[in-house]
Amino acid sequence: MQDGGLGHAGLLIGAVAAITAAAAWWPRVAYRLSVAPLESPRAECLSCGQAFAPGRRGWLRGGSACRNCPQPWWITSLLAGAMSGALTWRAAAFTGEHLLILTCWLAIIQAGVLLSLIDLAVMRLPVRLVMGLAAIVCVCVGTAALLSAQPQLLLTAMMAGLAVGAFYLLAALALPSQIGLGDVRLATILGFALGVNGWTAVVLGTALPYLLAPPFALALLLRGGSRKAQLPFGPFLIAGAVIAQFLTGS
Ligand SMILES: [Zn+2]
Repeated sequence: MQDGGLGHAGLLIGAVAAITAAAAWWPRVAYRLSVAPLESPRAECLSCGQAFAPGRRGWLRGGSACRNCPQPWWITSLLAGAMSGALTWRAAAFTGEHLLILTCWLAIIQAGVLLSLIDLAVMRLPVRLVMGLAAIVCVCVGTAALLSAQPQLLLTAMMAGLAVGAFYLLAALALPSQIGLGDVRLATILGFALGVNGWTAVVLGTALPYLLAPPFALALLLRGGSRKAQLPFGPFLIAGAVIAQFLTGS
């Protein structure tokens, strides 16, 4: 927290509370969207058979995806709140381009919770959700570059997105069972967002997922998972990018 005093502290607490509460609404949405490509969203809980309400109401539920089947939904909510709090605390100011970049990262964290829950359930990152996030990130970064009269921000972001995308595309071609095209798309967007901070952020954000994932892969193996059991990479991409942004952002 570099300036602002009370106003900054108030915004920080507000952002953490809002993000923690908002993230509690994702488990139901994630559960319904945890289907194979082109399949329609789940209309009922597969564990107890409870049908979800028709229309919009069927998507709105805070806490566990199904009211009969408890799940530790608060873990992702608290993680989202903690990550948002850390980035809000790190923000240099809450005006102009700084506010836009912070908004971009808070959107990445929210979308990250939804995408991670789906990736953990069915090992995929739905294209439409990733593209929705891409649109938000592009608008935020583009407007920030315009407002601050720093077109090079956008240029570096685009170059970083292309570089990270190319790296992950090669990784997906080399290790098709570990890295999917969804990971390539998500990594490209995160590389673009990190590019605003320069190349140190981009390199850090690209390396961190590879440091964060192995302990979980080992734990999975020790718990009796087969050597071929897949670990979704989306949550590590998001976590790595947020940590890189925290360490290098301003
Ligand atoms: Zn249920």
